[in-house]
Amino acid sequence: MAFRTFIAALALSASFAAPALAQDIAAAKTALAGDYDRIVKELITITEIPAPPFGEQARAEYFAKAFKDLGLAEVAIDAEGNVTGLRRGTVAAGGALVVVSAHLDTVFPKGTDVTVRREGNTLNAPGVGDDTVGLTGLLAWVRALNAAKVPTRHDVLFVATVGEEGPGDLRGVRHLFTKNPYKGQIAAFISVDGSDPSRIVNQAVGSKRYNIAFTGPGGHSYGAFGIVNPMAAMADAVKRLYETDVPASPRTSFAASVVSGGTSVNSIPDRIELQVDMRSPDPKALERLEKRFLAIVDEAVAAENYARSTNLGEVGAEKTRIGDRPAGATADKHQLVVTSQKVLAEHGFQTQLLASSTDSNIPMSLGVPAITVGTGGGGGRAHSVDEYVNIERNAFIGGLSSGMALLVAVADLDWTAK
Ligand SMILES: [Zn+2]
Repeated sequence: MAFRTFIAALALSASFAAPALAQDIAAAKTALAGDYDRIVKELITITEIPAPPFGEQARAEYFAKAFKDLGLAEVAIDAEGNVTGLRRGTVAAGGALVVVSAHLDTVFPKGTDVTVRREGNTLNAPGVGDDTVGLTGLLAWVRALNAAKVPTRHDVLFVATVGEEGPGDLRGVRHLFTKNPYKGQIAAFISVDGSDPSRIVNQAVGSKRYNIAFTGPGGHSYGAFGIVNPMAAMADAVKRLYETDVPASPRTSFAASVVSGGTSVNSIPDRIELQVDMRSPDPKALERLEKRFLAIVDEAVAAENYARSTNLGEVGAEKTRIGDRPAGATADKHQLVVTSQKVLAEHGFQTQLLASSTDSNIPMSLGVPAITVGTGGGGGRAHSVDEYVNIERNAFIGGLSSGMALLVAVADLDWTAK
């Protein structure tokens, strides 16, 4: 073998072993920085496509087209509404892959004004940071990685999920891990959510949410005085809930948060509804709290039926679980967490490991390594109509660059043994 051929062969094999080289990443960052105006413009465009819970379709279609235009393979909208597109790695097709995802939905109902207002270096609009900046980041990363021809060891599946926020109850990511054709191939999951790149969520705060309808015979406030009252049972249940001990660490919480019902000021109500939210990053603590709450409802109903007359009928309770997000965690020492911290530190971010409720709850609960990170230049007031992001050029591109480098580093780890 001629020396030159030998060197070429060596270079070829090296490119398979360690796909993304430092100069590749540097070229991709240059491409990203040069793309600034377009990224900001696209952030505005996507923010202004309304995406209320269960109404993400227009945004999903925008993404399917964008993924195709960027040359991603196998672009599809799955049965739940998630958009997927594959960027092939250097290993054989069909093996372990890394998912990077952002969520399509916002918390804002249909009809909310989503017009973006630009004031100097900030963009203001509902949903602009949570999670449109993440969605825009995905597209910017593919464009920059393609421009610089950056290879990765593993395939990267780019995903825009539906149903991350409250009422969606993680329906998109749940589908991805239980029914989507790629479900068995996902070795690591990165959710890009929010606009702060120093936050790494590696603990999933689980939640259980209930609607309890307390029912009873109802009657005249004066004429039927003495009969059971579902409102009294509801109040008793709330009081008992607030007497419940929960662990301070890991932080476990409950809230009686919404109440509705009643007929008129001079009626004993026949129906009162109560909503309760319970949370913990510890699955066992959450399960104990849920069991205790359900027992409390029964105790409060029994106490009311004992305390007052049931001549016209008894008080009862209809319990409906309206939210179920599993708890879980990715260990602090896991290669996904360690690598992410290292990359973000190299980009000047002082990272913190946090617990939160995000799309990563589902993979974490299933034992698939997952983290949620922010990207971009920071922002605030998420879930309010005053939501904003900072688009000052250096901070914005710096945040996006760190996220892209993190993604490449994770896709270059060895996930085949997982
Ligand atoms: Zn979000």
